[in-house]
Amino acid sequence: QVRVRFAPSPTGPLHIGGVRTALFNYLFAKKNNGVFFLRIEDTDQNRYVPGAEEYIIEALEWLGISPDETIGKNEKFGPYRQSERKDLYQQYAADLIKSGNAYYAFDTAEALDAARKEEENQGKTFIYNHHNREKLDTSLVISPEEIAKRIADGAAYVIRFKTPVNETLHLHDIIRGDVKFETSLLDDKVLFKSDGMPTYHLANIVDDHLMETSHVIRGEEWLPSMPLHILLYRAFGWDAPEFAHLPLIMKPVGNGKLSKRDGDKMGFPVFPLDWKTEEGISSGYREKGFFPEAVINFLALLGWNDATEKELFNLEELVESFDLNRVHKAGAKFDPEKNKWFNHQYLIRQEDSLLANAFAPILIEKGITISDDKLTKIVSLIKERAHFVSEFWEMSDFFFVAPVAYDEKASKNWKAETPALMEELISVLEKIEEFTSLNIETIVKEWMTNNEIGMGKVMQPFRLSLVGALKGPHLFDIVELIGKEETISRLQKAIT
Ligand code: GLU
Repeated sequence: QVRVRFAPSPTGPLHIGGVRTALFNYLFAKKNNGVFFLRIEDTDQNRYVPGAEEYIIEALEWLGISPDETIGKNEKFGPYRQSERKDLYQQYAADLIKSGNAYYAFDTAEALDAARKEEENQGKTFIYNHHNREKLDTSLVISPEEIAKRIADGAAYVIRFKTPVNETLHLHDIIRGDVKFETSLLDDKVLFKSDGMPTYHLANIVDDHLMETSHVIRGEEWLPSMPLHILLYRAFGWDAPEFAHLPLIMKPVGNGKLSKRDGDKMGFPVFPLDWKTEEGISSGYREKGFFPEAVINFLALLGWNDATEKELFNLEELVESFDLNRVHKAGAKFDPEKNKWFNHQYLIRQEDSLLANAFAPILIEKGITISDDKLTKIVSLIKERAHFVSEFWEMSDFFFVAPVAYDEKASKNWKAETPALMEELISVLEKIEEFTSLNIETIVKEWMTNNEIGMGKVMQPFRLSLVGALKGPHLFDIVELIGKEETISRLQKAIT
């Protein structure tokens, strides 16, 4: 059975790259009728940030990609929080020592520093591994009695992996294909610390094994850890899952990984939800008014496509078409404009009445009351040009309040003969019984033709009087919606 996991460390808000990792795991699981689970990797107590775990869970929920198994939900292989599995890891570290795959290292920080300096003075880069592990303070060179005594005395130690020497590992990654690693270049990573906590590497491998993970789908930044992970599976005598390392998400301009600063600088979010700290708010997609479906669609195409030009996919279609083998190797450029474009596409496909509901609170806040019917009509007229519901007010304020000022440039269309023409227009409008857009348009145009009045002479000042600028949807739709009385009153105001 396919079982994949999203395994974030709760060290802060979930970055958009993390969300994409979660999404690809979700899609892969659903596509293969498998299980998507969430495991919280919180063994590094120094980097633990309160609230981050709740944030991750809430973000996945908002996006509609909640895990099948996690803390408090179908805990088949629980607990799903590593800090609660603490007691388990020590035994596995001990097993590796027994089998000769790991060793104790008692080096103090000072001793390590000195060793590092010495090697650097000889022009070498310091790597803690086969070339020096027997010169350092490790259980490889201390008698068993001495080791036991030191541990009994409470000496600080770590357990390190004993990386095999001179081996070329030929590994396979679903996205990158065959990858080669030289074990002699790897360092002997710390697996377990004397504070009783495992490091990421040990806990991750033990849990992926115990939780029956079939595929590890994660960011490219973990590719360098792959050889160690494979070696750990081998040392334990376990089958390793398959691996797929997703391409990085790159800055919109220039090179390098997308960062929070890029977002702040260019005014787009890189987080799913707002994240508040004493230093301020990092803004999130939800609060910026993005539809979760649009965010999902956008993220799915960061590093993947279905081999066609198709861009709009709902979650179901994504599950249907998703294929790990079609994920690109190269980094995916993050394009904030495209991100907004997706939101626009989802916005125009929303039911007008739903959009009206979303717009209503903004109007209530401004003390404006309006019937649902009318509001729905207004929304239908403006949504075509909007990216967000939050833009609706600015695009449609003239439906609700008379202009207080007239656009200066547009006022050039207000000529000496305009007031008299507007007076005439008022009397034409006054006589119209059926005050609907098409009927008003027909009658007004008839009047212009019959009197040989140029279109521009009437239409532009007319719009200016109602809207305050030469913008907005079809003029006669506006006229119908604001009504006869208000139309005439705005014309009168403009004349004086
Ligand atoms: N805890 C790791 C992280 O924060 C998990 C990496 C992995 O998926 O192995 O990304």
